[in-house]
Order: sequence, then structure tokens, then C-alpha cells
Amino acid sequence: IESRLPTVGTTIFTVMSRLAQECGAINLSQGFPDFNAEDVLFERVAHWMRAGFNQYAPLAGCLPLREAIVRKVEGLYGTRYDVEHEVTVTAGATQALFTAVSALVHAGDEVIVFEPVYDSYGPAIELAGGTVIRMQLRAPDYRPDWVSVAAAIGPRTRMIMINSPHNPTATVWSADDLAQLAALTRNTGIVVVSDEVYEHIVFDGAVHQSCAAHPELAARSIVVSSFGKTYHITGWKVGYVVAPRELMAEFRKVHQFNVFTVNTPVQLALADYMADAGRHLQLSAFYQAKRDYFRAGLSGARFELLPSGGTYFQLARYGAISDQPDGVFCDWLTREAGVAAIPVSAFFADGRDEGVIRFCFAKNESTLAAACERLQKLR
Ligand code: PMP
Ligand code: GLN
Repeated sequence: IESRLPTVGTTIFTVMSRLAQECGAINLSQGFPDFNAEDVLFERVAHWMRAGFNQYAPLAGCLPLREAIVRKVEGLYGTRYDVEHEVTVTAGATQALFTAVSALVHAGDEVIVFEPVYDSYGPAIELAGGTVIRMQLRAPDYRPDWVSVAAAIGPRTRMIMINSPHNPTATVWSADDLAQLAALTRNTGIVVVSDEVYEHIVFDGAVHQSCAAHPELAARSIVVSSFGKTYHITGWKVGYVVAPRELMAEFRKVHQFNVFTVNTPVQLALADYMADAGRHLQLSAFYQAKRDYFRAGLSGARFELLPSGGTYFQLARYGAISDQPDGVFCDWLTREAGVAAIPVSAFFADGRDEGVIRFCFAKNESTLAAACERLQKLR
């Protein structure tokens, strides 16, 4: 078979979670909580199922959920998206990103991404016939270099894909970053795809900078979020996009043919659940406590912890423990130390290895404590 993705293997998240399971290791690799969502959410799903809401939802998503999303986005970011034409419920952020790229990138177009980059972006662009242009983010603070971005923008640049708070580096972009992005895309036809799945997980008083809160960027952006991260339900695979009407019309042309629509009773339950804004507003404090607990648990260990300003990830250098490549180290760590992590080289097209691994701290304190005890033993 002549592969359309000849250099792509199985995603690292699947590889590491599988290995963790085989070895009985504590799985801090793939990002997902090991605690449950609230019972009331499950009751709402059961309610809507029993009430007979088990057939296809409208293409754009159930109206109550679209209304709840529009209310939330306006409340937090000040932009009022039109409920009919400017919001679509998706099968998670992954589908949203893939659909946005498929709908807007033509063969030969260039799409700028920031490396380390979430692993689904590159293949989506390549399948659309686009060329991936990779801007490098450098440890330890992984800030974007806007001078390089300016130099990379040209007549073929069709799209810029951004992600703040950022997976895997846990950096959070500033208002100035968005101002720079706005300046560089002014008077161009460039579309911004803004992956904001960790929008509600920012630490130390920082404020999430949404493209939806920046009128000039909002006018050219497809903003993506995911209920998986916000409500501890990554397995439900429900997310959404908001975008101006012309962009959304193109998005929906593809959406209708790659999923058509998303699980009906779950959408209705999420609409009910979103009515309490406290739930997403408390998330930063909830995860900051976990970040602090995990970092404190590793104090004195031989890992060098990089800053974590948002997301539920913590990067660490392990050079004091091993000089192996990060993939080899993660394999060893899972098998021999009983803790699974993600090698950050997996987020680089050329496998750039900086001796950095990613831990997920979206876990119960008992899980984090057990992991820290094992990690403390590595000398
Ligand atoms: N983008 C980023 C940056 C992510 O971390 C994730 C989830 N790991 C996704 C997209 C995909 O989200 P979903 O599970 O809703 O498809
Ligand atoms: N986004 C999650 C992570 O970064 C994993 C999602 C997936 O497995 N595709 O770990």
C-alpha cells in the first residue's frame, strides 16, 4: 500500500498507555483524569435518554447546548457568536481540528504550527495536501518567537494553528502574543485555528487569552474547545468550535460528512450542566492544587521540573538520572520504575530530543503520591 502518511506510526498516547497497562505502571502519560465526573451529569444523560432524545441531533448540535456555549463564550470573552450560524458541536477537539483543516487548507497551502506540536495537527495538514511550517518553541519557557513567525509568513500561508494553554509545554500565551499574532495576520487571508481545549486550566492568576476575546483575531479565527478536559469526560469525545459565519459555513460543509452530528443525550446533559458556570470557573484552582501537590512530591527528586503555567501537564528534565534518549527513558521508566510518561520528542517532526518528558497530573492525590514515591527512588 502506498501510504498517505508514510512517516506516521501509532500515536504516542496509545503506545504509552498500552505499555503502562501491560506493565501495571502508574499511568501519567496520556492526558486524562483518573477520577470521575459528577453524578449529576450522568443523571442528566440518563434523563434525556429515558425522555426519548436518542435520535440524530441537528447538524450544528442541539440548540440548548449551542445556546449554553454562546452564553459562556460571551460571558468570558465578550464576543457574541450567533447561535444558528457561528457555533458547532463536534466529536471532541480532534475532529474539530481535522475538520477545520480539511475545510480550509488547499493543496499547496502552508500552515504554520508551533513545535513541540500536538500530534494530530501535522497529519491533518498533510492529508489536506498542505505543507507544515514548524516554528520552534525553546525550553525552558517555550515562548513563540514572533520575528521568526513574521519571516515564515508568505503568500502561501493559509492558516496558523495555535494552542494556549499549550500541550505539552504547559505555557500560556500573553495578551502581547495575541497582539503580535493579530498584527502579523492583519490584511491577510490567513485563518487562525486556536486550540483552546485547556482554556479553563490556567495557574497563578494568569488569564487565558482567547482569540474569541480579541475582536480582530476573532474575525479570522476558528476557536476550538473540548468538554473532555473541562468536565473530566475525555472518553465522551464532545467539543465545539465557534467562528464567524463565513468560516463556519465552510467548516460545516465538511463536518456534515465526517461526523454529521454528535451524541444527542450527552449534548443535552452538557447543556444542563453548563448552566452552573462555577464548574468551569473552579477548574484552574482545582488543577493548580494538583500541580502544586505533584511538584512538591517531586522536590528533592532528581528530575528538573520546568514551569507549568496551565494545562494538566508537567515537563521534567531527567538528565541527572539518565543520558538515554527520551523514548528509551520513558520505556525504561514505565517498565522498571513503574511510572509512565510521554517523551516530548514525539511532538517534534524530526524527533528532536531535549531530554524532556511530560507527566499528566490530572490524577487523584493518592495516584500522584504513589508515583512520586517511585520517582523519588531514581538516583
Ligand atoms: N488538542 C490538544 C492540545 C489536546 O491536548 C487534546 C487532547 N489531548 C486535543 C486537542 C483533543 O481533544 P479531544 O479529546 O476533545 O478530541
Ligand atoms: N490529548 C491527550 C494528551 O495529550 C491525549 C489524547 C489522545 O490520546 N489522543 O495526552
